[in-house]
Amino acid sequence: MRSAVLDNDVIGALVSALGTDSVIHEGSALSFFANDVYRGGGLPLAVVRPTDVAALQQAVRTCAKFGVAMVPRGGGASYTDGYILPDGGHVVFDTGALDAIEIDEQAAIVTVGTGVTWANLKTALDAKGLRTPFWGPFSGIAATVGGSMSQNTLSHGSTMHGISAQSVLSMDVVLASGELLSTSASTAMRFYGPDLTGLFTGDCGVFGIKARIRLPLLPVLPHFVCLSFAFDSFAAYHAASRKAAMARLDDSHFGLDLALSQGQIGRQEGIGARAKIALQVLRRAPNKAKGIAQLMRMAIAGEDAMRAGAYMCHFIIEGFDAQEAAIKAKLLRRLLDGLGREIANSIPTFVQSIPFAPLFNVLGPNGERWVPVHGVFAHDQAVAFDAAFKDLIAKRKPEMDALGVWLGTMFSPVGPSGFLYEVALYWPDDRTDYHRTTLGEDYLSSKPDFAPNAASRAYVEDLKIAIIALMQDFGAGHFQLGRAYTYQQRLAPPAASLLRAIKSELDPQGLMNPGALGF
Ligand SMILES: Cc1cc2nc3c(=O)[nH]c(=O)nc-3n(C[C@H](O)[C@H](O)[C@H](O)COP(=O)(O)OP(=O)(O)OC[C@H]3O[C@@H](n4cnc5c(N)ncnc54)[C@H](O)[C@@H]3O)c2cc1C
Repeated sequence: MRSAVLDNDVIGALVSALGTDSVIHEGSALSFFANDVYRGGGLPLAVVRPTDVAALQQAVRTCAKFGVAMVPRGGGASYTDGYILPDGGHVVFDTGALDAIEIDEQAAIVTVGTGVTWANLKTALDAKGLRTPFWGPFSGIAATVGGSMSQNTLSHGSTMHGISAQSVLSMDVVLASGELLSTSASTAMRFYGPDLTGLFTGDCGVFGIKARIRLPLLPVLPHFVCLSFAFDSFAAYHAASRKAAMARLDDSHFGLDLALSQGQIGRQEGIGARAKIALQVLRRAPNKAKGIAQLMRMAIAGEDAMRAGAYMCHFIIEGFDAQEAAIKAKLLRRLLDGLGREIANSIPTFVQSIPFAPLFNVLGPNGERWVPVHGVFAHDQAVAFDAAFKDLIAKRKPEMDALGVWLGTMFSPVGPSGFLYEVALYWPDDRTDYHRTTLGEDYLSSKPDFAPNAASRAYVEDLKIAIIALMQDFGAGHFQLGRAYTYQQRLAPPAASLLRAIKSELDPQGLMNPGALGF
């Protein structure tokens, strides 16, 4: 048990190291930082927001001296207890002020502070006609480069270029001692000897706090085609996605079942949202005539486009010129021939126009609470898992209905050989300070309010655990491990002991994000 005197000493030392403006230690903000998108943990002792790497090192040294747990937090857009500590009493490291972006066009490298959001990075790179290979999750309006690299992330650019960890050259990481470790001896290359950069990807911050990250640059391909297909069965959907992932014709693609197609799109139905989409479509179209034609197609397709089959797959294809994009689209249509039917492309057009939409999806379409759970499957397991999952849900359906719990599924490719199956769970429940702060009163007042609902909440947690266990029965792996997915137990003994040896070398007191990855 920590004493109040010691807590005051820690806070005093942090304030004198960083200044009052960079340390929060009282008030409602602490409760915001005690919640992720899914649920809450214990109250932190303090939140620090260092403005440069030296200040970050100083704050880490201070915590290490007092033996206080340190928990890094980027945009806070995760839902796997990655940055919340059940017992509290920790110091949260909010990386938001580490927001420098240095673009070296000649070297084809961008160096970012880890608190840079993917949306801000895209704005800075767009101005120069540049991009990174992987260029962010859908949550990129809040999610940071540091957060994505720390828990592995996919979406924009992922079919063509893989997940976040595949788009990093090197990192500078502040270790638990306060020392700064650079992961590569060369800024130009990652694979200079053993891949030390890879060691820190997906580590959920247990090996240290990332301060700076270097990513490679590519030219933006300014021409694009958006395509959508509907499928009557999961097996047909999976076959199409597998073929597309192997062919790598699209920059990214993703799939939604009917429940999510209706739920997600229900969100964009306001007149204001539609006007914004129209404006973005026009702005991003290679020329005005094409933009207007696209808008007309979207208007004619209307909402039926979202309900055209049991599963829908949405593709964004890019090219150096219109011809290249059109040829890739033609090849993709040929590849998927006989598996599904082409439908109006409103959804990928929307996503292409607004790749980083506001975080409305942290609640369900009617204000319900939301938590996703996912597994990444080998292709030969995906269809079998889907059947077993549907069996599980059929058995649970009466209980789910009684408690107001419902779900939808979405899918993404993970390179040519992995298939991500994500289940979004919804239930009626009270909001937390995370939702109130992120969405604001204006938005929340337009949605139904729910009373605290411990029964449905507990049921969702139990269902989530059952789904993860079923996924693992089919050999699934996971991203975003946090405290939600088992990891060390699934490693072979020599790998597990190597991991523990690395942890004790980098963080001998076990102060960095204790509990994440099972440490
Ligand atoms: C609406 C919505 C859409 C989403 N879409 C996607 C998607 O398309 N694809 C996808 O993969 N995920 C998605 N996510 C999940 C999540 O937003 C992303 O995985 C994102 O990368 C999290 O980044 P963050 O900066 O918010 O990290 P946080 O949530 O702040 O942190 C995540 C983990 O990284 C650690 N961490 C953060 N910063 C550092 C650092 N500097 N050094 C060391 N450790 C650190 C934290 O301790 C924590 O364990 C979505 C979430 C929401 C709410």
